[in-house]
Amino acid sequence: MVTAIGCMSGGLDSTLAVRLMQRLDVEVIGLHILHLWAPPPAESGAKPRAVRAAEALGVPLRTIDAAEADLALVLAPAHGLGKRMNPCIDCRIWSLRRARELMDAERADFVFTGEVLGQRPMSQRRPVMQLIEREAGLVGRLLRPLSAKCLPPTQAEQQGLVDREKLLGIRGRARAVQMALAAEWGITDYPSPAGGCLLTDPGFALRLRDLLARGPPTVADVELLKVGRHFRLPDGTLLVMGRSEQDCLLLDRFFRPGDVRIEAEGIPGPTTLLRGAPGDDNLRTAAALTLRYITKAGPGPRRVLVQPVGGPKRTITAAPAADADARRLIIAPAEGK
Ligand code: SF4
Repeated sequence: MVTAIGCMSGGLDSTLAVRLMQRLDVEVIGLHILHLWAPPPAESGAKPRAVRAAEALGVPLRTIDAAEADLALVLAPAHGLGKRMNPCIDCRIWSLRRARELMDAERADFVFTGEVLGQRPMSQRRPVMQLIEREAGLVGRLLRPLSAKCLPPTQAEQQGLVDREKLLGIRGRARAVQMALAAEWGITDYPSPAGGCLLTDPGFALRLRDLLARGPPTVADVELLKVGRHFRLPDGTLLVMGRSEQDCLLLDRFFRPGDVRIEAEGIPGPTTLLRGAPGDDNLRTAAALTLRYITKAGPGPRRVLVQPVGGPKRTITAAPAADADARRLIIAPAEGK
């Protein structure tokens, strides 16, 4: 029996790669690298896409948490960053090293991915794919079944473990071939091509830059960037405001001693987390911004509840912030303000 480690992101390409290997009678063990840059699930408690894909395909799935490694790579990317904050080359090398370790531990024959030649500008150009393969210690042992016919034969093909003729020769960014194959093979549950990595999201990249400028962050600091709207006050104090009910529920998990909770009194609206200096000016600004995002708050002053973590609740009065103030303080690209 031929066995291979299949890197599974939960996206269409890696799902197709697994299905193709199964059609060639390869026993697949899935590997899902849980990146710090994965978006939070659309619904709380929803299974990650890779888990759903593995269940649908009937393959066992191993998951590795890459959060600490992801943070280290974005702070010191040996091969540089992409267009935004994405250290794709280092990230691929790190992930494929884990795949190689699993291949050795499972005595599998090779590793495969759903990579497509020329699909991503940073990490899926031919010379870069070769560099990644070398640095991951997988020369000759890394098969990219979707683009195999555009690449030199791997050991698995040379040794007849898989029939090269039955592999594919997809290249480029268009997804028509993949979508046609998905329809033919009955694969319907897959995400849109964008959206798998928050580092390519302009708003997230901006918030991350702002965070990194203040010193090395923790994984929890980065997780907080995924929630709500973020504002930076002139003294460096951070405000995070839920955009939706789900955001506010998520935000609840991030409060820690020293933080202050701000909510309008007697009217539904967002929760705001203040982290930094809880002086009167900052509390008033936080209250004003909180009211600014409540449609029904009206223009006049209102009472706002203020509660330090573990401390007593009190009320202050504020009027909604002017749009110009919100625009000045929010950490968002121009179009997202
Ligand atoms: S897009 Fe994100 S998860 Fe994918 S290789 Fe680049 S940094 Fe890593």
